Amino acid sequence: MDEKKVISLTGGRKASPVPESAGEAATALGLPEFEPGWVWLVGAGPGDPGLLTLHALNALRQADVVVYDALVDETVLQFAKPGAKLEYSGKRGGKPGPKQRDISAKLVEFARAGRRVLRLKGGDPFVFGRGGEEALALVDAGIPFRIVPGVTAGIGGLGYAGIPVTHRDVNHAVTFVTGHMAGGDVPENLDWPSIAKGSPVVVLYMAISHLGEISKLLIENGRNASEPVALVRNATLKDQSVLETTLGTAAEDVARAEFKAPAIIVIGDVVKLREGLDWLGALEGRILKRDPLNLRAKQDAG
Ligand code: SAH
Repeated sequence: MDEKKVISLTGGRKASPVPESAGEAATALGLPEFEPGWVWLVGAGPGDPGLLTLHALNALRQADVVVYDALVDETVLQFAKPGAKLEYSGKRGGKPGPKQRDISAKLVEFARAGRRVLRLKGGDPFVFGRGGEEALALVDAGIPFRIVPGVTAGIGGLGYAGIPVTHRDVNHAVTFVTGHMAGGDVPENLDWPSIAKGSPVVVLYMAISHLGEISKLLIENGRNASEPVALVRNATLKDQSVLETTLGTAAEDVARAEFKAPAIIVIGDVVKLREGLDWLGALEGRILKRDPLNLRAKQDAG
């Protein structure tokens, strides 16, 4: 092997020891310092603390104020530095949470007071999370900010149920849809006929209460009532549960099982792969199917 190349790959340095702490890791990786007066908009992932990014951890250990949402699992707040102000911004006990405008105003206010402000959101801040709105409010106020993406429920949450959001033998496209408009209605400005025809896999956020209507719209526009659907509740958390159903029976099954939010919903044949890929189920003894799409059987027949 060419020795020079090896040296250039490692930059001529010895391999660093494995970092002992988040602080050491942040330093070794050259992660940024959180400067006073800045706001970092950070995704916390869908719940399992192991899915936090190093940037998120680095933000938590430096922030003076953490403003966090209902979907952020509180176990991750233990990584905040001692004495940091932890401020909950979600709904509690059925009471409405603070208005979006008030949250943005608060971020600006903390930043102007010279704090390091961590805005921690469930999943990814730019996926149905109003991260864009909050960031624009910061731009408007002249506050410097950073965005830290997170694992979104519609991808990572499905992964924990053993459902790949794309699979070469099933789909080359996927559509992410919110089932909930600001007013609480099914989104009307969506082109359901095109979604039904053009998107073999549809992932729905915030859609449990409208699943009946959405299924109906998809079936009316040509989707098969027997098409598989899965709902993953509290995805990636210890109490994750999965309900498998079909487009035609989804609403009924959800009501019967009293399946509640927060859940991520996926419609399409990728759900069939769960029989082969339910890795969490396998930990509890589920026997995984080796050819869940029956491709070998089809090949043999052809
Ligand atoms: N920014 C978030 C989405 C916020 S919208 C993200 O990227 O994941 C809120 C919706 O996200 C919920 O109604 C639910 O549909 C979905 N969701 C978020 N976390 C979830 C979880 N742990 N389990 C199941 N669904 C989740």
